[in-house]
Amino acid sequence: MAANILLVEDEPAIQELVAVNLVRAGHQVLRAGDAETALRLVREALPDLVLVDWMLPGMNGVELARRLRADERTRSVPIIMLTARGEEQDKITGLETGADDYVTKPFSPRELVARIKAVLRRQRPQATDDIVEIGGLQLDPSTHRVTAGELPINLGPTEFRLLHFLMTHPERVHSRAQLLDQVWGDHVFVEERTVDVHIRRLRGALEATQHDRLVQTVRGSGYRLSADLGVAPALGVE
Ligand code: CA
Repeated sequence: MAANILLVEDEPAIQELVAVNLVRAGHQVLRAGDAETALRLVREALPDLVLVDWMLPGMNGVELARRLRADERTRSVPIIMLTARGEEQDKITGLETGADDYVTKPFSPRELVARIKAVLRRQRPQATDDIVEIGGLQLDPSTHRVTAGELPINLGPTEFRLLHFLMTHPERVHSRAQLLDQVWGDHVFVEERTVDVHIRRLRGALEATQHDRLVQTVRGSGYRLSADLGVAPALGVE
């Protein structure tokens, strides 16, 4: 499981300890020493999870969590709060601001990694190694293999990530901007047309087994992956 984790912690020793353990667990870590830096990094690329210390200089972790929850674009990014506080009321406040979980210092790195894994599995299935299967199409993130029945399907790395995201979020329509955020991690510098190019390549790779029909264009909105082919023609599958 490799997720992009934004770590917001002002104490260098703790930041280092946590980062080392996350990298060891296979994650990519982006670090910020304060909430303002964290917000700037989030504007550039959407992380899979934000790990934020409650006590930060300037804007605190609770306020940062509140801001991430208030913004449409960052609303669904999982947040785990790190804190020295152990009191029940603080825990409730932390969860009320929108944190998905809460880890009290001192914590064991192993516990933290396990909690991150649990939150990702619940909310960021595209960042886990769980095998997904839809409409006879199977994708295995750990071996990077896609198969249709017994037939292997060769995909480039971007098409693989795109298919993984679509398969872990089926039946929902994703705009090009959302796909750029979720698959490319960048909605600022990559053009929306890029999405169309990779959707076309993905469909091309899936054509031989007719699984290209799973990838549907929803006119004026974006793309969706659906095993329900009955409604596809009306949606304008290209
Ligand atoms: Ca702190």
